[in-house]
Amino acid sequence: MKRISICFSFVFVSLSLAACNPSQEQGSSMADADQIDLIIMGDYVISMDGSSSVYKDGAVAIDEGLILAVGDAADISAEYSAAEILPGENRIVMPGLVNGHSHAAMTLLRGVADDLALMDWLNNYIFPAEVQFVDTEFVRIGTELACWEMIRGGTTTFVDMYYFPDTIAQVVDSCGMRAMISATVIDQRSPDAENAADSIRKGIGFIERWKNKNSRITPIFGPHANYTLNAEQLKATRAAAIEHDTSISIHMSESPFELQYSKDTFGMTSVELAESIGFFDGPTIAAHMVWPTEEEISILVERKVGVIHNPTSNMKIASGISPVAEMLQAGVRMGLGTDGAASNNDLDMWEEMRLAAFLQKVDRMDPVVMSAPTVLKMATSGGATAIGLGDTIGSIEVGKRADIIQVAFDDVHHVPTYDVISHLVYVTDEQDVASVVVDGKVLMKDRQLLTIDTKRVAEEAKAFATEIQTALYELNR
Ligand SMILES: [Zn+2]
Repeated sequence: MKRISICFSFVFVSLSLAACNPSQEQGSSMADADQIDLIIMGDYVISMDGSSSVYKDGAVAIDEGLILAVGDAADISAEYSAAEILPGENRIVMPGLVNGHSHAAMTLLRGVADDLALMDWLNNYIFPAEVQFVDTEFVRIGTELACWEMIRGGTTTFVDMYYFPDTIAQVVDSCGMRAMISATVIDQRSPDAENAADSIRKGIGFIERWKNKNSRITPIFGPHANYTLNAEQLKATRAAAIEHDTSISIHMSESPFELQYSKDTFGMTSVELAESIGFFDGPTIAAHMVWPTEEEISILVERKVGVIHNPTSNMKIASGISPVAEMLQAGVRMGLGTDGAASNNDLDMWEEMRLAAFLQKVDRMDPVVMSAPTVLKMATSGGATAIGLGDTIGSIEVGKRADIIQVAFDDVHHVPTYDVISHLVYVTDEQDVASVVVDGKVLMKDRQLLTIDTKRVAEEAKAFATEIQTALYELNR
């Protein structure tokens, strides 16, 4: 078994080495080999495990959704006979990407209004469109569109926050992805509830319906923020999450507006408020975290809060630059997310990786402040830990669930390749993802989506968009 540590920054890749890889579509016929479901091969297998192992001419053996073995392709082929093999020529194998914060169905509002001040954008475009159009059909089509885009781009797990969570769960169930789905809790009339109490009550129903129903789907609570909920409502949401043994996803310390609102209303910052009311007494995924102080960063570390950095959204809405390097240095559990497609405007985790690195570098005027391996970890194993699934996914390790992607390295922008990790962070884009496996099941093979009828979804999305466009035109005439 050949192991190369990614600490050695120049891993020389000769794509001609790929010729050594077996490329048979059929399973091995060796009589004494163990029969398993799937073998995924690659010129390199990037494990993202604790030892940061990289296997040259590697393979991963998978059965019943579990990773049985990872190592040298020749050894794996000798030991196992698989029903299906994903050949490794010009392929890099790595863990699927973890999108730690999204509002998937907002793909249907992508580009509906851009380049506006936040309140103009919200009050004249997003909220009116949501009030008028967001129903189960909107959420079904928008989430299908998002799952299509995310699978195509190599994302295998996402943490979502939107309305009608049962519909989101049904789409995730059928498309084969893994997701933590938040029942949104907000103290205003929303598409699926009247107020905070009503949204908590409905959220409990959702959690009871989906808990332990599908191992890929984790139902959680999604209290929107401390400027749309008061302290008692935040406490009530945490109490419900503890009672139902689940976690919480929330927007926290996102904008200067929130910072000021929190100080004016509660006399303290968002993180201090959360700490003071016991909000961190259970697992918490905090999206954005753009404005934490040093003291707040200490609280985040101590309380094991998972922080999700959303660089594109923070730039587009001009929320600010998150102190990611400081939080990582302090030991905060950090992941990456896209936020919704109306504030990004896509669900491309490769772009988030690149911008996460570049934004820290230019902010500090220091090119060494965020390295490619650090950012890749945030998008995979680090993100999995931040959302509380670190024991299950995020790395290619024996005993973990098989959420794995193959990235094609034959496009001109990958020729030549000196350092695979550098290329994955600074070069690779969505179109390079060739195959996607979640829980051992192949969802995309050679860029063909196998679980979503993309033609139907595109037609439905276009029809819905025509209605939205007409209504917004009338509204803003
Ligand atoms: Zn968000």
